[in-house]
Amino acid sequence: MAGQVRPITLVGTPVLHAPCRHVEDFDAALAELVDDMFASMYEADGVGLAANQISVDLRVFVFDCPDADGTRHRGAVVNPVLELPALEDRRLDDGDEGCLSVPGPHARLARPDHAAVQGFDVGGKPVRVEGTGLLARCLQHETDHLEGRLYIDRLSARARKKVLKEYEAARAEAEESLASGGQ
Ligand SMILES: [Zn+2]
Repeated sequence: MAGQVRPITLVGTPVLHAPCRHVEDFDAALAELVDDMFASMYEADGVGLAANQISVDLRVFVFDCPDADGTRHRGAVVNPVLELPALEDRRLDDGDEGCLSVPGPHARLARPDHAAVQGFDVGGKPVRVEGTGLLARCLQHETDHLEGRLYIDRLSARARKKVLKEYEAARAEAEESLASGGQ
């Protein structure tokens, strides 16, 4: 299962800002997509990746992410449905969040500290992934992606503007160093 690394789509690309389609066929093409998603996620040093982050508008995400106890969880979920604790049982974790599609900046974003996702594995078998800590954040972040939502869409207008400004500055710097033959 050596997937191919594909380029990561960046904020502003239409495929990132529209809901993805349900997966109907659990076929070889889907397995190949998941392999490519893992390869692309590891190449980018991410803990999760949604299909539309490599330009495919299907409801699939992959993850390789520690939970609050430091236990590593790895898998792929197709057609995921997010489950959050009832409002009265919800505790918020206001940790930092970032996104491979908005490379550079991070921002503090409060999210429930416990989340689960129901869906299917790459072979079509039902799966449920439950997580705390970073994994809970990751499950919410990735299901958001499949709805066409980025984490910056959940920030205040002011915080969002700050993140986008930092992102643009980091990009301009990268382009400048590329143009001058730097690394
Ligand atoms: Zn992301």
